Amino acid sequence: EAKRQGRGKAVFFQSGMHVQVLNIMRMESDLRKAFERGEFCLFYQPIISLENRHTVSLEALLRWNHPEKGLISPDKFIPLAEDTGLIRELGLWVFEQACYQLKYWQVRFPHHHNLGVNINVSAIQLKQPRLVREIETIIHRSGLKPDTCRMEITESAMMNDPDLMLNVLKDLKGLEVQLYIDDFGTGYSSLSYLQKFPIDALKIDKSFIQNIDASDKSMQIAQAIIALGNAFDLRVVAEGVETDTQLNILEASHCHHVQGYYFSRPIDKEKTENYLSIIVH
Ligand code: C2E
Ligand code: MG
Ligand code: MG
Ligand code: MG
Repeated sequence: EAKRQGRGKAVFFQSGMHVQVLNIMRMESDLRKAFERGEFCLFYQPIISLENRHTVSLEALLRWNHPEKGLISPDKFIPLAEDTGLIRELGLWVFEQACYQLKYWQVRFPHHHNLGVNINVSAIQLKQPRLVREIETIIHRSGLKPDTCRMEITESAMMNDPDLMLNVLKDLKGLEVQLYIDDFGTGYSSLSYLQKFPIDALKIDKSFIQNIDASDKSMQIAQAIIALGNAFDLRVVAEGVETDTQLNILEASHCHHVQGYYFSRPIDKEKTENYLSIIVH
C-alpha cells in the first residue's frame, strides 16, 4: 500500500515537473525568438542634478515590444532571461545600443556633450569571464568617453558573491566607467564592502523615496544614505521621485541627483530626442 502511494506520488511529481519544464522551454524559445526578431527596445529616463536642474544622465530601461501584448516590462522577463542564460547576449545588446545611442546624442546635441548613460547589469553578466573585455570593446568602438558610461548593479547582486564581485568591479573600474549601486538600502551590504568596492554612486531605492513624505523612518533612511554617500565621497541618486514634497525633502537633505515620474517617465527614443533638443538655460 505504502509502496503504491509512494509510486503514485513520484509519478505525479514527475508529470508536474514535466509541465513546468515545458513551460520554461516555451518561454525560453519565445524570448529568444523575440530577440532574433528585434522585438526589444530601450526606453530612457532622465536623471537630474539638484545643483542646477540639468539633465546629467539617462537610464536605459529595456522593454519587450510584443506584437500582440504590447510593451512588456523588464520585471516580467529579465528573471527568465537570467535563468535561461539569454541575459548574456541581451545584456551585451543593451550595452551596445545604449553606448552608440548616447554617443550619437552627445554629438547631435552639443549642449549635452557630457551626458551620461546608466546601464543596468545583472549578476549573471558580471560572472561571465569575457564581460570586461566585451565592454571595453563596445566602449572603444562607440567612441563614448568611458566616464560617461555608468553601470548599475543592484546591491543584492553585489553581495551575492562579494569576493568575485570585488575583482570584477576592479577590472571594470580599470576601464574608467562609473559604478553605481542600484536599489541601495534593500540588500544587505556591509559597510566594510562599501569601503572596499571601487564604486562611484549609490541609488536610494524608490521604496524609501515613495514613503519619504509619509514615514519618518523612510526619511531617516534616505538621509542616512545621503550622509553615508558624503562620508564615502559617493554621489547619491534618489529614484522614484513623484511629488513636489518628495523633491523638496531631497533638496533640503542635499541629495545630489534625482530621477522619477515627477520629471519624466521612461520615454522611447523619439521622445528622448525631443526632450534632449530643448536647451535649458
Ligand atoms: P531599476 O534599475 O531600479 O529601474 C528603476 C525602475 O523604476 C524602472 O522600472 C523605472 O521605470 C521605475 N521608475 C522610475 N521612476 C519611477 C517613479 O517615479 N515611480 C515609480 N513607481 N517607478 C519609477 P522598469 O523600467 O520597469 O525596470 C524595472 C527593473 O528592471 C529595473 O529596476 C532593472 O532592475 C531591471 N532592468 C531594466 N532594464 C534592464 C536591462 O537592460 N538589464 C537588466 N539586467 N535589468 C534591467
Ligand atoms: Mg537601475
Ligand atoms: Mg533601482
Ligand atoms: Mg529595481
